[in-house]
This record gives sequence, C-alpha cells and structure tokens, in this order.
Amino acid sequence: MSRFPVILSAPSGGGKTTIARSLLARRQDLGYSVSCTTRTPRPGEVHARDYYFMTRAEFIAEREKGAFAESAEVHGNLYGTLRSEVERVMASGRHVVMDIDVQGAVQFQRAFPQAVTIFILPPSAEVLLDRLRARKTESAAQLAARLQSALQELQQVDEYEYVIVNDELDRAVGSVASIVDAETVSRERVKNLRQQVGLLIERLEQEIENTTP
Ligand code: 5GP
Repeated sequence: MSRFPVILSAPSGGGKTTIARSLLARRQDLGYSVSCTTRTPRPGEVHARDYYFMTRAEFIAEREKGAFAESAEVHGNLYGTLRSEVERVMASGRHVVMDIDVQGAVQFQRAFPQAVTIFILPPSAEVLLDRLRARKTESAAQLAARLQSALQELQQVDEYEYVIVNDELDRAVGSVASIVDAETVSRERVKNLRQQVGLLIERLEQEIENTTP
C-alpha cells in the first residue's frame, strides 16, 4: 500500500499539535516527522521526540547540505523537515504526520507532491485568542509575533485540500483519520491498479468466450 505525508497546518493556537498527538496515539499506521528547530526547548520538551533542537549554525549547515525537504523562519526561529526523517517513517510502512507552518507546507509539496494537506481552523476567534494567551511561557513580544503570524496563516487557507474545524478534539481527530483512509483508496494511490483490473478483465473475457453459444 502506498504511504504518503499528511501535513497539518493551523494558525498558532489552532490545536494541531494536540490533534497530531491524539491521532498518533490512536493509529499504528501513522508516524511523526520530528522537525528541527533553533528555538529553545519549552519545559517538558524532549530532544528527538518533540524536536531536534539545534543552534542556528547547525541548522544552516544542514540546510546548505540540502538535508531539508522544506524550511522556514517562524516567529524568529528556524524550523525544518529533514528529508531523511520523512523517508524513515515511510520506509517503516507508515504515513508521515507533519505539523508544519504554511510556508513550509507549500515548499514541502514541491518535494513530495503526493502529500495530503489539511488546514485546522479554530472554532472561533475567542478560542484562538484564549489558546494563544494560555501559553504563559511567552513574553508579550512573543505573543504579539504569534498573533501576527496567526493572521498571515489564516489567509493561506486556500493552499490546502482539506479544512477541519477543531471544535471538539475527538471529532477533529476522527476527521483527519477519515481523510487518511479515503486518500489511501483514492484511485491515483492504489498500487498496480491497471494490473489488478487487467486480470479481472482477462478472466471475464475468457468466461464470455466460453459461455457464448
Ligand atoms: P512551536 O514553536 O510552537 O512548536 O511551532 C511554531 C510553528 O512552527 C508552528 O506553526 C509549527 O507548525 C511550525 N513548525 C514546526 N515544525 C516545523 C517544520 O519542520 N517546518 C515548518 N515550516 N514549520 C514548522
């Protein structure tokens, strides 16, 4: 069965990280692409699980080597998806779930055109603002930067194939799972389709020949 990347994007505070986590806990056929970032770890974040944390110099060196399928500057920090990370997850037979920003999603699709793109919308502006303010680890300037990029990200919704309103976590996770299931059987992704149908046709033709008086 063909495996493909699933890109989840949302304005900051859209809840996509929670959706990605729940989805991964629920389904064995999905793996997570751990991104690289130059931002400092938040309390509780673990290197190589949440992100590969690196210095700006290390990040730039990787980027110059062509190691990233996409990279972008988000709120003053660099973020990127390693090609090797995407290949690693797909080689293990799983679809790759990616939590990346809008600029990265557009670039990524050029490198992996088979990717499915999903935009997560918050149920209301108030919910979005509450989620943004609830992140108490951040200064007022950081919050202002996040508001600004949330605004820009919302304007990019047309770049995505699917849109899910994150009003209730379970339902949103279920919707992403349904998209993955539907995409798995979309005609372009079905492996050896011509061959499978060809064999059926061949057998039917034989039968028609044998039964024709
Ligand atoms: P945070 O610092 O809150 O974990 O993430 C900030 C933003 O960076 C989020 O919008 C997240 O989706 C985005 N992001 C995380 N990893 C990547 C990545 O590998 N590439 C890109 N382009 N954006 C990323």
